[in-house]
Parts: sequence; structure tokens; C-alpha cells
Amino acid sequence: MSYAHSIDVAQKFADFALKRINADDLVPTPENYELWFVYYSKSNPALVNAIDALLEKTGGRISDEQCYGVFNEFLSGSREVEMVSEAGSQIQRTIDEVNVVVFSTKKYAAKYNQGLQDASDKIKAGTSDGDVEVLLADIMSSTDDMIGHHEHLEEMLEHSTRAMEDMRRDLEIARKEAMTDPLTGLANRKAFDQEIHSLIEAANSGEEPHTFSMIMLDIDHFKKFNDTFGHQVGDQVLKLVARTLKAGIKGRDVVVRYGGEEFVILLPNTNIQGGMKVAELLRHEVEKKEVVNRVTGESIAKITFSAGVAEYLKNEDREDFVVRVDDALYEAKDAGRNQVLASSS
Ligand code: GH3
Ligand code: MG
Ligand code: MG
Repeated sequence: MSYAHSIDVAQKFADFALKRINADDLVPTPENYELWFVYYSKSNPALVNAIDALLEKTGGRISDEQCYGVFNEFLSGSREVEMVSEAGSQIQRTIDEVNVVVFSTKKYAAKYNQGLQDASDKIKAGTSDGDVEVLLADIMSSTDDMIGHHEHLEEMLEHSTRAMEDMRRDLEIARKEAMTDPLTGLANRKAFDQEIHSLIEAANSGEEPHTFSMIMLDIDHFKKFNDTFGHQVGDQVLKLVARTLKAGIKGRDVVVRYGGEEFVILLPNTNIQGGMKVAELLRHEVEKKEVVNRVTGESIAKITFSAGVAEYLKNEDREDFVVRVDDALYEAKDAGRNQVLASSS
């Protein structure tokens, strides 16, 4: 992230951002802070438009979930974009440097060839032994220079190979970061979009059916953790749930942090019965966890979630499928929470 504001001006945006977070009772996460800082600095017009549109729709107050959505859409990739553009200019610089050396080596090789040609002409025209000695000495010295040039070129190429390798690694890290939720280390919405896209493609193509199921779960009364114990404990609960979900799945299953305290699990080659089984198992695992007071060791709260599960129907519209899972989740909430319901397709 790079901002070019004077300290006074930056302080003003920082104050606005903090006031906004407090006034709207938003979670004071670095993401929310960055979002509102960028909003007030007007440095990202697309983000300002998106927030203004939401403010208009919601009557002047947007929720944490909406903040999270805007952050993800406009800011979460900014570090990745910076890394990619830095790698791009680094590649250009390396290519330019190598080009300069290759060009001068070529010029030198042409001059060297010309020198050999001249010496050969002179020898053919008849020269004394003394002249030959001088010619040979000249050729030896030019050969040494030539070798020097080539060694320099080799060094440059080695250096650029290493630089390219570093850049390849940086880009790989950036790619992974762009797909990861920073708090929980789980796959994020961007990764979810890619994953569901390929699952849907596989389900709709080929003779062999590649059905898959999706679990959408939302922690029950999560706001209570934040309100009672503070946001840091809330964050710890999110991490604990993330770890538990990850430990409870296998193979190609993917756990995604879908929103604030909402998670999605994609289960390839799994029908609704299988999906329900996994969801119930995870519900039991999470229910076993307790929030413990580090000082006294006493258990202060239990964690539960509600979940909806659905199996993808061939050629179903992606949005319809997601709505189906979401509806099942909200039925589970309405039915009293801490339970899993299958979508009635
Ligand atoms: P329900 O059982 O109906 O799901 O109730 P709930 O309290 O879980 O649901 P609600 O949507 O009212 O509250 C979710 C809260 O999650 C609101 C928001 O402040 C909090 N939240 C969202 N993202 C984060 C986060 O990254 N960290 C923390 N600590 N809290 C978050
Ligand atoms: Mg909840
Ligand atoms: Mg929620």
C-alpha cells in the first residue's frame, strides 16, 4: 500500500476513519481502517463510488460484512498488484542490462574478427618474423579482452537467472496471498470463485457425473463473543473454528472464509448425504471447543454454528445454487441454531 499524503492531511483521514468505525460500531480491523482511510482520502474513485452506492442503499450505514465485501473487491489485491508491477519493472531492468552487455559483446566480437582478418591479410602479403610476433601479441591481447567480455556476459546471465528466479518466487507468494484470508489462513472469496467455477464446469461437462456439495455455515451469536470479550477474542474464535474445520476435512475439500463469521466448504465428488455427514461431523467438532479464560482456565463460552448443505444440480445456475445453500443455512438459524439442514432442491 502506498499513499502520498502530508502528515497533516493523512492525520485528518485517519481521524475520520476511526470516528467512522466507532460511530457505526464496526470492528476496528486493519482492513476496516484501510477501507475508510482510502474512502476519505478519495484516492480510489471506484471504492468511493461503491461505498457511496451502499450508503445510499442502506440509509447511511454499512455493516461489517459490506465493508469486508468492498475491501475484498477493491483493496485486498493491492499488495499483490504492487508486487506484480515491481516484478514487472525488475524484469524490464534485467532485460535492459543484459541487452547492453550482449550488444557490446557483439560489437567487440565483430571488431575482433576484423582484427583477425587484417592479421591474416598481412601474413598472406608477406611479413618478417618480427612483424608476426607483434601481430601474435596483438591477437593474444585481443583474445584476452574477448574472453573477459564473454565472462562478463556469463556473469550477467547468471545474475539475471537468479533475479528471475527470485521474481518467480515473489509472484508465487503474491498469488498465494491473493487467495488467502489473512486472519485465518483459509482460502478467501477469490479462491472460492475459482474453485466453484471449476467444480461447476466439471459437473456440467463429460459423461461421468462429477457432482459436488457445498456447506455454508455461520457461527451462532458471534456478535456476543465480540461484545462480551472484545474483538481480539472474537478473532481467536474465528481462528479456532477455521483450524477445526480444516482439521475435519480431507482430500480435495476446500474450506473458505466466506465473510466475517461465515465459512463455506466445497466437497468435490460428494452427494447430499455425504455433505450432511461432513457438516454434522464438523458441527460436533466445533461444539466440543470451548473458549477458555487463559488466567483462570475456566470455560467461558461454547461455540456452535448453523449450516445449510446442498448438492449441485447439473446445469444449475451458480447464483441459484448459492442461494439454495444460503436459504438452508437461514432455515437452520430459524429452527433454533446449532444444527445442519439440507436444502430442499
Ligand atoms: P447469528 O446467530 O444470527 O448468526 O448471530 P451473529 O451474532 O453471529 O450474527 P451477526 O451477523 O449479527 O454478527 C456477526 C458479527 O461478526 C458482526 C461483526 O461485528 C462480527 N465480525 C465480522 N468479521 C469479524 C472479524 O474479522 N473479527 C471479529 N472479531 N468480528 C467480526
Ligand atoms: Mg453468525
Ligand atoms: Mg453472519
